[in-house]
Amino acid sequence: MPLAGVPEILVQQLDDPVCRERNTSWLLARFDQADPVVSGNKKFKLHYFLEEALASGKKRIVTFGGAYSNHLVATAKACRDLGLRSVGIVRGKGFAHESHTLVSCRSYGMELHFVTREDYAAMSSHPEIIIPLFDADQDVLVPEGGFHPLGAAGAAHMLDSIPFHNATHIVCATGTGTTVAGLLRAAKPAQQVISVPVLKSLYDLPERLATVNPGIEKLPVVFNQYHFGGYAKYHVPLLQFMNTLYKNTGIPTDFVYTAKMMYAIKDQVIQGYFPEGSVIMALHTGGLQGNLSLPPGTLIF
Ligand SMILES: *Cc1c(COP(=O)(O)O)cnc(C)c1O
Repeated sequence: MPLAGVPEILVQQLDDPVCRERNTSWLLARFDQADPVVSGNKKFKLHYFLEEALASGKKRIVTFGGAYSNHLVATAKACRDLGLRSVGIVRGKGFAHESHTLVSCRSYGMELHFVTREDYAAMSSHPEIIIPLFDADQDVLVPEGGFHPLGAAGAAHMLDSIPFHNATHIVCATGTGTTVAGLLRAAKPAQQVISVPVLKSLYDLPERLATVNPGIEKLPVVFNQYHFGGYAKYHVPLLQFMNTLYKNTGIPTDFVYTAKMMYAIKDQVIQGYFPEGSVIMALHTGGLQGNLSLPPGTLIF
């Protein structure tokens, strides 16, 4: 069932010469257009946490993220829209200036708490670090990136918002693995789910999937070599790819997630990974606000 309040998602066909030559269709589901702030996959991953807060009368969402986190700003806006308060626990202390992302979070009423990288990393095993910020009677805790079975259950609804299609492959960028977990839950048996990790060392994806998809053993195909040096790292060819894609199709991508996914698809089409007749459904998971951290003029959009 489509989630309430989520419009039907536009699916765009890319006119790519290599795809034409290989008799392959490349579709892009524009989840970035569903909401400019609660962008892409984030509305879906948050859905059941927000529902739990509203159903139980809890007043606040407490969550975690870095200074440029799409998840933090999405949570801040989604909470404001529902009349919930929000708290963001931010990785890293002593920034010289506050990122555009954190400024947006505050503008939606999110209360920010900064913790050292060491404390942030230790939080999952040392919950006492967040206890002073957390009130079990009032708060719903959302792990970083919605990494929890509830997050995956929400992400599973993404495919319900796409109009009828005959995709043979469904592709998404992967950070925490929550979204790809949801896609594995929802994809038809004949559809191959493909993950493009944007981190260099996402070696534990199978364990991550087992955590958020308990009892489900399906695994994605992983295109592992498109992280461009690691999380939020990039090389000039990635930026050139983004500008060329925009010039040819009008599609904006973000350098942290969706550009790496689109680059991976293009490269794998060229290398012949996809059999003749494939219909590739790429998911544009949004995140365009992240591009504001690039030097001005880097991108043509
Ligand atoms: C958060 C995010 C992802 C990663 O989703 P996970 O569920 O953490 O794997 C992918 N794309 C964009 C644009 C994102 O903001």
